[in-house]
Amino acid sequence: MSTPKNIHTTFDRILQRKDKEAMLNQKGMVVWMTGLSGSGKTTIAVALEKLLAEKGILTQILDGDNIRSGINNNLGFSEEDRKENIRRIAEVSKLFVNCGIVTLNCFVSPTKDIRQQAKQILGDDMVEVFINTPFDECEKRDVKGLYAKARAGEIKNFTGLDAPFETPEAPLLDIRTVGLSVEECATQIYDAVLPLIKQ
Ligand code: ADP
Repeated sequence: MSTPKNIHTTFDRILQRKDKEAMLNQKGMVVWMTGLSGSGKTTIAVALEKLLAEKGILTQILDGDNIRSGINNNLGFSEEDRKENIRRIAEVSKLFVNCGIVTLNCFVSPTKDIRQQAKQILGDDMVEVFINTPFDECEKRDVKGLYAKARAGEIKNFTGLDAPFETPEAPLLDIRTVGLSVEECATQIYDAVLPLIKQ
């Protein structure tokens, strides 16, 4: 999108991304985790953040609940609102990345279209990680009680039940969480992203 009239950006006058990355000794990027509700995105992100912190890497976790209770608290789940939700998340992530920060994004992001939209904004700064936990297992865990509510018809358009989840076609990683510990899942992601962050 072009810059609106009377908006004069200062991107050329502020300290550049590469200067900030040099200060932090890391490269900014977005690790975008996609998967069903309860698949483990946030739990794994918390463990991953800890591993990265031990290497001195600065991160920011963004997840559905913190974004929807803050910057996106005026958005619902209509098609239009879901699109706006992702657009804002991707733009917020971009601000962090331009500061050299590694953003760990935990969003169901159920369709190819939605993930593509994020990719259009973030480009090569974004890698996709599929937190691959089958529906039955997520329903068994039912951390937030959402599956029971959806089964009872109290939640409509619930991903995996009466709304689709489209399997990512070419994620950087496909993490099959069943039979693995949270730490094992986080370590798989850590091993893949560390070389991208510490170049
Ligand atoms: P999401 O952020 O995808 O909605 P959460 O992280 O909130 O999911 O919940 C995942 C739940 O599954 C947690 O209660 C976590 O302890 C549990 N769990 C069991 N095994 C794993 C695993 N290997 N990886 C991640 N979470 C797991």
